[in-house]
Amino acid sequence: MAIVGSGPAGYFTAQAFQNAQTDLMSFSIDMFERLPTPWGLVRSGVAPDHQKIKTVSKVFEKIAKTQNFRFFGNVEIGKDISLKELKDKYDVVILSTGASNGKKLGIPGENLKNSYTSAEFVSWYNSHPDFTNIDIDLSCDTAVLVGAGNVAIDIARILIKDPKEYKETDIADYALTKLTNSNIKKVIILARRGPEQASFTAIELREFLKFENIKVEIDYSLIENSLSRIANNEVTDKDIIANIKLMKQLLDKTVIDANKSLEIRFFCSPTEISGYDSVEQVKYVKKQCQKLEFNDTNKELAIKTGIIISAIGYEPDRLEGVSISKGKIDNIAGHIEQNLYTTGWAKRGSTGVIGTNKSDSLDVVNLIIAKLSKPKNTEDVTKLFKKIEYVIDQTGWEKINSAEIFAGQISNKPRVKIYDREVLIKIGSWLSK
Ligand code: NAP
Repeated sequence: MAIVGSGPAGYFTAQAFQNAQTDLMSFSIDMFERLPTPWGLVRSGVAPDHQKIKTVSKVFEKIAKTQNFRFFGNVEIGKDISLKELKDKYDVVILSTGASNGKKLGIPGENLKNSYTSAEFVSWYNSHPDFTNIDIDLSCDTAVLVGAGNVAIDIARILIKDPKEYKETDIADYALTKLTNSNIKKVIILARRGPEQASFTAIELREFLKFENIKVEIDYSLIENSLSRIANNEVTDKDIIANIKLMKQLLDKTVIDANKSLEIRFFCSPTEISGYDSVEQVKYVKKQCQKLEFNDTNKELAIKTGIIISAIGYEPDRLEGVSISKGKIDNIAGHIEQNLYTTGWAKRGSTGVIGTNKSDSLDVVNLIIAKLSKPKNTEDVTKLFKKIEYVIDQTGWEKINSAEIFAGQISNKPRVKIYDREVLIKIGSWLSK
């Protein structure tokens, strides 16, 4: 089995194969990763102040240490090995490549300096080697986020929570310096639908209850309207009810020393970003809900700002020969074609939490096993590697992991992530043996 991508979906796919083994059926699993390091979003997506979520990496390491599992880091499918070569070599190839591109708004001005997608901004503060050099400017006082999902809530927290609270996390050092010197006092989230349609979850937003200096602002009448709909049993979904009640609690919270604020503007959709060469203003249109349809009104407003981040979901990377539509690889229950399958965000789009990948991957693995025929007998894949000396195997990754954890112990952090690709390769590649 070749699994492409070493995020949660990749590891849970490997685990499902490992658990399905019997006396008569065993699987050899090779996992390919284009970065020198594994763990996908657990390393470069989960917020630095959510360390507990990252403990799932212990499960990943257990999977990786199991017999018949090999990790090949710093190997990019489509560049170092073609997908066709992989499909020819293996009985089954599974694309667990996630969705690493932030969706774009498609409005004028989106390419101005200091306009980012969540994929860029989140990867930046999480030390992703491809995003360390972005020159993020936090010198304005108001930041605009677009989208009412958990990623927007993560980013809002990063932007206005006291940076001191990140000191003992694995946040990138350069990001912490920028955040410490940041002038941002207010974050405005533009949500194109209403409070009942928000896709963030109460567990994420609840963290704002404990911030003593951050005031949460939402049009009170919208929340009152939803509360009366709840009281009349017009809203019965327990997650929506939890969200609405929490928003009321946040609005009612007494904040004595509020020097920062998070404002969620519902029924607002951005129409244009403008500025000389960098973001200076975001125009948006008010929307209204009529018979469950959300339409633009003729009310246009604007916010003076120096930074906009769209957190409106993600799309998979392009891979030759694989078609993508509606934010996911075209597939039927995980099957793409012939011996090619997909799991995780690449399969279903950017929805669900880390745990969602466990049951989802198991379903696809069951489908694969049901369709298996006689195994192929081909020579080892490593013969295909065009830059074999730079491959990072499990032992190499463990060297990187130990170096990061050791550096963290000195500075009272869970780890200090290495983000220079060259350094990662030096520590972990076959060259260093
Ligand atoms: P999301 O939950 O899908 O939220 C995306 C938001 O963007 C929605 O409010 C959506 O509004 C809005 N949107 C989409 N297209 C838009 C457009 N063109 N203009 C304006 N708004 C637009 O996505 P996400 O926040 O990226 O999160 C992805 C997944 O990761 C989710 O399942 C999330 O729960 C998960 N996650 C979990 C955690 C955690 O558990 N700690 C943290 C981060 C992420 P509509 O609803 O109107 O489409």
